[in-house]
Amino acid sequence: MADPRGSSPDDLACIDLVNKVTEYLDGKLDEGQRERIERHLEVCDGCRAALDQFQTVIRLVGRLTPADVARIDALTRDRLMAMLRVARRR
Ligand SMILES: [Zn+2]
Repeated sequence: MADPRGSSPDDLACIDLVNKVTEYLDGKLDEGQRERIERHLEVCDGCRAALDQFQTVIRLVGRLTPADVARIDALTRDRLMAMLRVARRR
C-alpha cells in the first residue's frame, strides 16, 4: 500500500509522548508541550493506558526512573502499535 506522505503523524505523536512522559509527569515541560501531550491523551487510548502505567510506578516507588521507563517502554510500544493498527482499520 503506497502512501506518498510516508509515516503517520500519529505514530510520531505516540513515540514523542513516551519520550517526554517523565518530563511531563515531573512538570518540566513548558505550557505548549504540555498542552500538546494533553490534547494527544484525549484522543489516544494507548497513550492514556501508558500514562496510567507510569503513574502506577510513581505511586509504588515514589518516582519514575529511566530504568522504569525503559522497562515499560517495550510493553507500551507493543500496546500502542496494536491500538494504532485497530484505529487504522477504518
Ligand atoms: Zn498516542
